[in-house]
Amino acid sequence: MNLNKTGRNYRREDSVIRIGEVSIGGGEFQIIAGPCSVESEEQILEISDVLKTTGIKILRGGAFKPRTSPYDFQGLKNDGIRLLSETKKQTNLLIVSEVMGINELPLFDEIDIIQVGARNMQNFELLKALGRINKPILLKRGYANTVYELLQSAEYIMLEGNENVILCERGIRTFENATRNTLDLSIIPVVKELSHLPIIVDPSHATGKASYVAAMAMAATAAGCDGLLIEVHNNPETALSDGKQSLNPEEFSDLYKNVNKIRACINK
Ligand code: PEP
Ligand code: MN
Repeated sequence: MNLNKTGRNYRREDSVIRIGEVSIGGGEFQIIAGPCSVESEEQILEISDVLKTTGIKILRGGAFKPRTSPYDFQGLKNDGIRLLSETKKQTNLLIVSEVMGINELPLFDEIDIIQVGARNMQNFELLKALGRINKPILLKRGYANTVYELLQSAEYIMLEGNENVILCERGIRTFENATRNTLDLSIIPVVKELSHLPIIVDPSHATGKASYVAAMAMAATAAGCDGLLIEVHNNPETALSDGKQSLNPEEFSDLYKNVNKIRACINK
């Protein structure tokens, strides 16, 4: 494998990605949570209040949504980004949101971590542009991409100068259709051996069903990931996207407690 900046030869110790006072990697674990899409001011503020009370420091929310069908809700776009910036001011939570194209990048000034979605993992021009900005990038694995391809996509970002890359496993396509995707947890030890970059796990998109999310979140934590990405909605039944896999506040609070129990066991 030809790994340069992403490889352990470039940096032997784990990279720690710092966003203000918050860190991911090198033993620092973060649960990023929030709705699939920002839907309204009330929705995003209600969810962020719940998350903040639980102890979450990083809020996720999609404004530009990569939907399979062009007839599905495409996100609030600029208004969504504006609502996220206002939420950040009111709550002091750090914000993650997905960018889909280079042209939208100037809108992301107030966003703390920029997400590259599974569908854009090999959008090399976008990756290069993200390599030239000074913000952490959350790079999700494409659903038909190997570990090597994921690391090479991270390499595109790092080669341009931005070394703040967080990898994210979100499930891959297999013959199995009982779950939305198949969560490839074995990527965690593989990435830990090959690379110094932190890797987090998204059991929401991996399983596609709320009742499966907590089990896989705990398994991922036990396997040694650096954090989780969990979709949470104040009212999953009415969500404009990914409601079936979104946890309600009580389910999320249980997950949070159980993941912390697993962390306490493995840190001994
Ligand atoms: C998301 O995080 O809402 C999303 C669209 O994820 P993915 O790119 O992994 O499908
Ligand atoms: Mn989603």
